[in-house]
Amino acid sequence: MVVGDISTGTDVLVVGAGPGGYVAAIRASQLGLDTTLVEKDAYGGVCLNRGCIPSKALITGADTAHGAANAEAMGVHADPAVDMAAMQSWKDGVVDQLTGGVEKLCKANGVNLVEGTAEFAGEGRVRVAHGGEGQGSETIEYEHAIIATGSRPIQIPGFEFDEEHVLSSQGALSLDTVPDELVVVGAGYIGMELSTTYAKLGTDVTVVEMLDSALPGYEDDIARTVRKRAEELGVEFHFGEGASEWEPHNDGVRVTTETEDGETSTYAADKVLVAVGRSPVTDTLGLDAIGLEPDENGFLATDEFGETAVDDVYAVGDVAGEPMLAHKASAEGEVVAEVIAGEPAAMDFQAIPAAVFTDPEIGTVGMTEAEAADAGFDPVVGKMPMNASGRALTLSEPEGFVRVVADSETGFVLGGQIVGPEASELVAELALAVEMGATLEDVGSTVHTHPTLSEAVMEAVKNAQGHAIHTLNR
Ligand SMILES: Cc1cc2nc3c(=O)[nH]c(=O)nc-3n(C[C@H](O)[C@H](O)[C@H](O)COP(=O)(O)OP(=O)(O)OC[C@H]3O[C@@H](n4cnc5c(N)ncnc54)[C@H](O)[C@@H]3O)c2cc1C
Repeated sequence: MVVGDISTGTDVLVVGAGPGGYVAAIRASQLGLDTTLVEKDAYGGVCLNRGCIPSKALITGADTAHGAANAEAMGVHADPAVDMAAMQSWKDGVVDQLTGGVEKLCKANGVNLVEGTAEFAGEGRVRVAHGGEGQGSETIEYEHAIIATGSRPIQIPGFEFDEEHVLSSQGALSLDTVPDELVVVGAGYIGMELSTTYAKLGTDVTVVEMLDSALPGYEDDIARTVRKRAEELGVEFHFGEGASEWEPHNDGVRVTTETEDGETSTYAADKVLVAVGRSPVTDTLGLDAIGLEPDENGFLATDEFGETAVDDVYAVGDVAGEPMLAHKASAEGEVVAEVIAGEPAAMDFQAIPAAVFTDPEIGTVGMTEAEAADAGFDPVVGKMPMNASGRALTLSEPEGFVRVVADSETGFVLGGQIVGPEASELVAELALAVEMGATLEDVGSTVHTHPTLSEAVMEAVKNAQGHAIHTLNR
């Protein structure tokens, strides 16, 4: 122990108060374990402070402005003015309310909160450095540790984030004025969400992506639907181009890209946003001190109970690997807390949904048709186009479809892919179906409210059964 340290002990030490860590801490405390949660920055982690919540707040702001400006067909004539500074302070208010709520919930559940940066100091010991100079440090001894330190944006060489010219997603979520022109490097989900948002706010957005399509990892018809709509909103895509350097230009930037064949192009803009993925925060944790080694990408391998290669050391959330999503982090947090408390719990990755809040939204869960076939099933697929949904038409959002994948032999729902309005909400029904082992019969014979988008899920299921009413059966 360093002179001046104070030393305390705890059953469960959680490092990081994002959706993985704070949920684990609350659940552990609920289960009667003495629990300490260490956070170096802000309660709620990336999700509440610079990820899910701020991005969805700005998406709502942009949708509201864009929707009002484009409602002539409905007989609404409006010319909305966007006050970005006001939108930011509304967004910050939402964030503050939620982060304050997390702190209160932790306290109300009896979690000991410690502010500072944690580093492993040896088996069963973590050293926490408190804030700035003279703030001191403490050593906490633990029976069980849960690492929930999340992830940070990946930098590409030559594009260090200064949040003025070169933005990370964090900088892009905090702009006080709407840029006239923005170059976005990367067409993954964060790049696509932010491109659509700024396009709706009136920015000329240019996306450069090294691969040959947007939203890698999603099926072609899904990625194409979202890309087509983004193009309608004015987003310009350049595929097969990697950003190689940037230089100041007028008051903004000039970004150079390069193809595999060495052809270069340049794009001028006010700012460049680099959204090429995120990497786990495991390099600053002193993991050597407990003999824990991350894989070559920095992730910590865990078993279905969330335990790492070191006994009594668990990892949840982004540090524990894909999918790097808030609800996966929280689900793992609950499981790990229950495992430590001796409850029968384990992770099931089959039924973790994913959503992308583009226009239209994407919601997916479980297996695609190809994955089901690869897994040895004989998949049956049903589809319902959104333009056959009465509710989608009344929302003036007819793009997209619901697709459901089931096992033809048993009828078990294996997965689903939705692209369309409120896909992020609709996917919950299919996630429940996958999780509980529901069949096509279960979902198809459930009466759905009319007129709703959820009817499209029911119709896709009936289509798989060969008796859809509102779309032609295959
Ligand atoms: C722009 C953007 C949009 C997103 N949108 C969505 C979305 O719509 N839906 C979704 O599911 N996911 C979304 N995500 C991903 C989501 O934010 C993450 O998957 C989620 O936050 C991971 O949670 P976590 O608990 O693992 O870590 P984090 O939320 O990253 O939290 C980790 C915490 O650990 C703290 N910490 C790190 N090191 C230490 C240390 N040594 N000592 C003490 N504290 C430490 C950090 O300060 C941080 O608060 C988005 C991410 C971004 C960037």
